[in-house]
Amino acid sequence: MALAMAMRRAAALGARHILAACASPSSRVVPRCHMSADAGAAMEKIRAAGLLRTQGLIGGQWVDAYDGRTIEVQNPATGEVLANVSCMGSRETSDAIASAHSTFYSWSKLTASERSKALRKWYDLIISHKEELALLMTLEQGKPMKEALGEVNYGASFIEYFAEEAKRIYGDIIPQSLSDRRLLVLKQPVGVVGAITPWNFPLAMITRKVGPALACGCTVVVKPSEFTPLTALAAADLALQAGIPAGTLNVVMGNAPEIGDALLQSTQVRKITFTGSTAVGKKLMAGSANTVKKVSLELGGNAPCIVFDDADIDVAVKGSLAAKFRNSGQTCVCANRILVQEGIYEKFASAFVMAVQSLQVGNGLEESTSQGPLINEAAVQKVEKFINDATSKGANIMLGGKRHSLGMTFYEPTIVGNVSNDMLLFREEVFGPVAPLVPFKTEEEAIHMANDTNAGLAAYIFTKSIPRSWRVSEALEYGLVGVNEGLISTEVAPFGGVKQSGLGREGSKYGVDEYLELKYICMGNLN
Ligand code: ADP
Repeated sequence: MALAMAMRRAAALGARHILAACASPSSRVVPRCHMSADAGAAMEKIRAAGLLRTQGLIGGQWVDAYDGRTIEVQNPATGEVLANVSCMGSRETSDAIASAHSTFYSWSKLTASERSKALRKWYDLIISHKEELALLMTLEQGKPMKEALGEVNYGASFIEYFAEEAKRIYGDIIPQSLSDRRLLVLKQPVGVVGAITPWNFPLAMITRKVGPALACGCTVVVKPSEFTPLTALAAADLALQAGIPAGTLNVVMGNAPEIGDALLQSTQVRKITFTGSTAVGKKLMAGSANTVKKVSLELGGNAPCIVFDDADIDVAVKGSLAAKFRNSGQTCVCANRILVQEGIYEKFASAFVMAVQSLQVGNGLEESTSQGPLINEAAVQKVEKFINDATSKGANIMLGGKRHSLGMTFYEPTIVGNVSNDMLLFREEVFGPVAPLVPFKTEEEAIHMANDTNAGLAAYIFTKSIPRSWRVSEALEYGLVGVNEGLISTEVAPFGGVKQSGLGREGSKYGVDEYLELKYICMGNLN
C-alpha cells in the first residue's frame, strides 16, 4: 500500500511538469503505464465515437508535428498516459495562420445566416457527444463527471448563443453633419484571431472565444493548454463535421512560447484573445504592441466572498461552497478569500466546516466524487506553500490542511481560520481547495479589504439587505458580482475583469465587440 502510494506520488512528480516537454518521434504511441480499467473503457468509448484526435488541425487536415515530436497527455488522477499528441512550434503555427488568413475572405463573405447555421450545427453535435466530451475532460483535467457534463452544456451554450447573435450584428446610420452627406458605420470582422486557452475549462474557454469570432466572420488559430488538448481537438473535429470550412478553425499545441511568439509576430493575426495567468497575459499584451493587435485578456482573480452579519446562513454556506470548491478551487472566479463579519463568524465557520466535510474526494470518473485532483504537482506545492505561510503567521487549520491519503495530486478540502492581509492566502490566488476565512468588523472595512488587491475579476456578497447589496456591489472594484449566489457565469452575461484581471468581455451581446472593427463610411455630394 505504502509502496503503491509512493509510486503514484513519484508518477505525479515526474508526470505533469509545469511546462510540458516534447518527446522525440521514437517515444510515440507507447504509453508509460497501463491504463486503469475505468479510464481504458472511457477512452474506448471516445475512440469509438471518432473523437480521439491527437494531431493538430491545419487547413482542415489533421497533421503531425513537422519533426514528429509528441507530448504526453496524462490523467492527473492516476498519472497514466492517455495519449501522445503532436508537439508543434512556430512552423506549424505559421502554416495555421496562413490557412486561417486564406480562408478569412470566404468565411467573412458568407451571410450571417450561413455562418449561424454552421455554428448551430456545431452546437448540436457538441450536445449529442456530451458524454464523450465530458469523459475526455474528466480524464485529462480531473474534474468530476458531473462538473464535466456541466461544462459541456456551458461550453456549448456559447456556440448556440453566438449562432443566434451572428444575425444581430448591426451597424448604424448617423444623422448627417452636412446635408449632402450620409454617414454610416459598418461592423466588420477583425480578421485572423489567435486564441490561447488554459487547462481548467478545456472546452468552455475555447467556445467562449471561437463562438463570437466565427459569428463575426473571423477565422481562428486556437492553442489549447498542453495539459488538456484532447477536448479541444475533439471539439474541432465536431466543428469540421458541422461544415465549418477547412482552415476557418485551426488547432496547434506543443511549445507554448514558440506558438505564442509566432502568433504575436504575424502581421496577419489581428487579435489575440487569452485566458490564463496574469504573467503570461502581460507578456502577450507587450508582445502584441509590435504589430498593434487588438487584445482581450481574462487573467487571474482574487475573489472576495463577503458574508455579512445579516446574511441568510444557509444561502451563504451553499453559495460560498459553490464559489470556492468548484473544480477543486481551480477557477479564476473561485472565492479566494471568504470575509466573514464578526457577529456571524463562529456560526458561519461551523456550518461551513460541516458542509465542506461532506465533499467526496476521488477520481472524477466515480459517481460519488465531488472533488477531483489538482492539475499537477506544482499546483499542490503552491497550496502547501500558502498553507505553511498562513500557519506560520498565526492562521489556524479548521479542516484538512494536507495532501489527501489517495496520493497523486489529491488535496484535502481545507478551511483556514483567522487569515489576515499579510498572508499569501489573502494576497494571491491559491487555485486549490483551500477556503481562507478572514474576519472583519464593518462594511467599510470589508469593502477596503475586498479591493485591496491588483485583481478584479469576480466578487460575491451575502446579505439580506437590499440597500447594502447595491452599496457594496457598486463599491467593489470587480467585473462580476454575485449577490447571494456563488455560481454566476452564463453565456448571456458579460464575463471579464478590471485592474490586472484583464481587458475586454466574453459572452453576451458585448462579447462580439471584441472581434469587430468599426468602419465609418461618409457618402458625399448626394445633392
Ligand atoms: P495556467 O497557470 O493557468 O496554466 P498559463 O498562463 O501558464 O496559465 O497558461 C495558459 C495558456 O497559455 C496555456 O495554453 C499555456 O500553454 C499558454 N502559454 C504559457 N506560456 C505562454 C507563452 N509564453 N506564450 C504563449 N502562450 C503561453
